[in-house]
Amino acid sequence: MVSPENRQEFLRHLDVGKIQATIVINDIQRAIDDQLKPDISRASQSYLSYSWSEYHNLEAIYNWLDELEENHPLVAKTVVMGKSVENRDIKGFILNHRPERPNPLYGVLEGTLHAREWISAATVTWIIKEFLTSNNTEIRALAENFEWHIFPVVNPDGYAYTFSTHRMWRKNRSPDNVKTCPEGVDDDMSHGVDLNRNFGFEWMTIGASSDSCNNQYAGPEAFSEPESRAISNYVLALNEKGNIIFYIAFHSYTQLIIIPYSHVVSSDDALLSGNYPDMYEVAIRGADALEKRYGTHYRVGLSANVLYPMSGASFDWVKSAVDVPMTYLIELRDLGEYGFLLPPGQIVPTALETVDALVEMGKSASRLGYYELQYSGANTVFFSISMMLFGVLFALLK
Ligand SMILES: [Zn+2]
Repeated sequence: MVSPENRQEFLRHLDVGKIQATIVINDIQRAIDDQLKPDISRASQSYLSYSWSEYHNLEAIYNWLDELEENHPLVAKTVVMGKSVENRDIKGFILNHRPERPNPLYGVLEGTLHAREWISAATVTWIIKEFLTSNNTEIRALAENFEWHIFPVVNPDGYAYTFSTHRMWRKNRSPDNVKTCPEGVDDDMSHGVDLNRNFGFEWMTIGASSDSCNNQYAGPEAFSEPESRAISNYVLALNEKGNIIFYIAFHSYTQLIIIPYSHVVSSDDALLSGNYPDMYEVAIRGADALEKRYGTHYRVGLSANVLYPMSGASFDWVKSAVDVPMTYLIELRDLGEYGFLLPPGQIVPTALETVDALVEMGKSASRLGYYELQYSGANTVFFSISMMLFGVLFALLK
């Protein structure tokens, strides 16, 4: 990214170094401004106070979660997993369509660990809406077979900061490691830890930085941050209560479904995560289903193969600590045309194709024996009652 006043000098450097370059985004500020304009053609895509024609700030998301609880008291409740550095709630949503069942299986969705990845929060809130209200048999089945624990924004300070001050902020807002950064790097850059490098599995072994001025700063030690501690404590407590079958962390961008572990650089070590072949099959089928709707292509694999090797990521820690069978990190749209500044008009398409993937992943995991997918619910009950009434009516007519 180059500011207009440095344009000529930058081009001269490229020329001298004989470096070929292409411009991906011509005017970043315009892309930032455009991202805040609602896409009116999608104004109908809303539920209660919330819509998917635009991106929403933290307050709007949290207010909407409260509204859901008020409107669906039998199946929905909000939950706070902990507090952020700046004392904000890390608020989520528990959805259980069959509260009477004794031992539910759990699914956990983690959104927006990285602050600037707005499409993550938008997609995760859409999934909540679909799981809560959809009449589609297959979405309904996936929603009903688990007790879902869904957190649209697990980095609330960073997310708020992307709305108030710095659109491209990635980390949390920890002040503990603030220092003077090298020339060309704003000192504010040291005001935060990369939460997806701060978890206590293979911490700081690869693809992470010990320099707080770096965007991949892993923190002074594993779990130094309240946000990563809150997530890990929540997962451990849930695992004590029963079986977590799915854990999916939503990021952007690059269109990937990433399988643990991310520090693994040799394919011989892919099997370190135990059921890598099954996770791979489920992910491939999910990616195929996703592609059917709009032709959006997602790649599947280890982080080292499809993105870069890294350590201290939340989903890798989840896999290692409690061995959740289906653990993934999904990098949503796009491939870099807009990057983190994905236009509001792409929220609904991204969300729709992502749900397609989740439905197929749910079916595939069941087919591989990880749980028994049951279709029952409203449609079957409705059908039985209709047949009964028809029977009564027929008898009366006779
Ligand atoms: Zn990310």
